Amino acid sequence: MAKPNIEKEHPSILQCVRELKKGQIPPWKAEENLAEKYGITQPLNFKAGALCRQRYIEEVTGEKFCFIQIPEKPYKQSYTCPEHNLIWEIEAKDTDLTCSLCGSKLESSKQTSALVSNYIGGQEDYYSYAGRIKVTGTIQKEFTNLLVYGTGLGPIGVTRGCFLINKFGGAYIQTSESARAARCLGFIFLSEKSRNQAIHVIENNLPELISKMDAKMTEFSGRTGPVEFGRAESRKGFILYVEFIADFKNARGHGDISRAVGFAKHELEKILNNTDIEYKLSMIAQGYDGDLKPSPRNKRGRFASASVRIPLEVFQDEFGTHPDRFLEMIEVDKTGSQKLGCQFYSGMGGEIIPAVYRATKLNPRSCLVSSFQNTFAGVDGSDLVYTVELPNIESGIVSCREGLIPPTGREALRIMGVRTSEEFSASLAAQVLAGEFNLALEIAREKLYKP
Ligand SMILES: [Zn+2]
Repeated sequence: MAKPNIEKEHPSILQCVRELKKGQIPPWKAEENLAEKYGITQPLNFKAGALCRQRYIEEVTGEKFCFIQIPEKPYKQSYTCPEHNLIWEIEAKDTDLTCSLCGSKLESSKQTSALVSNYIGGQEDYYSYAGRIKVTGTIQKEFTNLLVYGTGLGPIGVTRGCFLINKFGGAYIQTSESARAARCLGFIFLSEKSRNQAIHVIENNLPELISKMDAKMTEFSGRTGPVEFGRAESRKGFILYVEFIADFKNARGHGDISRAVGFAKHELEKILNNTDIEYKLSMIAQGYDGDLKPSPRNKRGRFASASVRIPLEVFQDEFGTHPDRFLEMIEVDKTGSQKLGCQFYSGMGGEIIPAVYRATKLNPRSCLVSSFQNTFAGVDGSDLVYTVELPNIESGIVSCREGLIPPTGREALRIMGVRTSEEFSASLAAQVLAGEFNLALEIAREKLYKP
């Protein structure tokens, strides 16, 4: 698509990009800056503001926006339903201007506002810019953050968090080299003795079975790791779980491990049928393989953690709150979460993680397992250390048989600086850290929910 000619009409856009680069204005102030300083007023400043952020991102990343486009009218308008007295906010291009509750024709209140905070483009999926973050540790680089977050100030919070964390050396990242995919077989035996005999027979056949399974997972370089046996008792009989966990570097591996374990089921049934060990049932035991189950014991995905370290002596001056107060507040929040039965704490991660998955559109589209998060805060020596841990990040990073990634998603990945699944995990953990750290500070400083 040809570049919008708005830049030719308004050369001041380039000046605003320069101000963004120098850090003279925060990215979410572009629209306001264009109106006040350069006379580009509403509603034209919405398109110009998004364009400024796009050009700024292009200059700092060296990547071009092509598929994440800015429409002609990237803003919303306010209307009122005369019947309900309800205020509607509708995207400017929408032509349905009736109240869906009563059918009344909506009355325009002539007020316009941005589609989402820090909007940078996208039709229907509204992309927000959420700052850049330096990471050190197992991955060392600077990521650009793009989120399809939706309503709310989340993208601004992440941008602010990144700014604070970068000031203290960036986020320290730890990632595992591989991600895991798991599928489980389940059997019911009539006696404990038969179950024990079966374990013995299966163990003896594993080396040959695993090499045949690995041969079925070569496309994504999947490798079966140790096989885990689990036992459970029920009135139906003696249950045996045989769990196969495979490692994948850049694929999710879900399809490959499913096919390989389907093969293993068939082979193990043949082997058991050749013995006198009786079993009542043989099945794919989905309850134990972790698929779509957010749980602290889930075996799927990749581990990534991100930490920021702040010297205690500068904490109060830098953040306007005492470190003791900050730590006590984290304690209250974590305890509250535990009282609900959650074994984890997420203040914003539950929104940020889906927003990254929506922006990148990779496989899996549903990030249920990946959204599990732990948060830690404490004192280490003379520093306060704040950490988030994402133990189960599932991500297939290439567009392939595992799942097509549309051009907007591939473009987002390129602009973010994410090439591998490990980099995706590092970028995700760093963004969650930035969002959570900023939110925790806002709560400690009583900036939230002001009456
Ligand atoms: Zn109505």
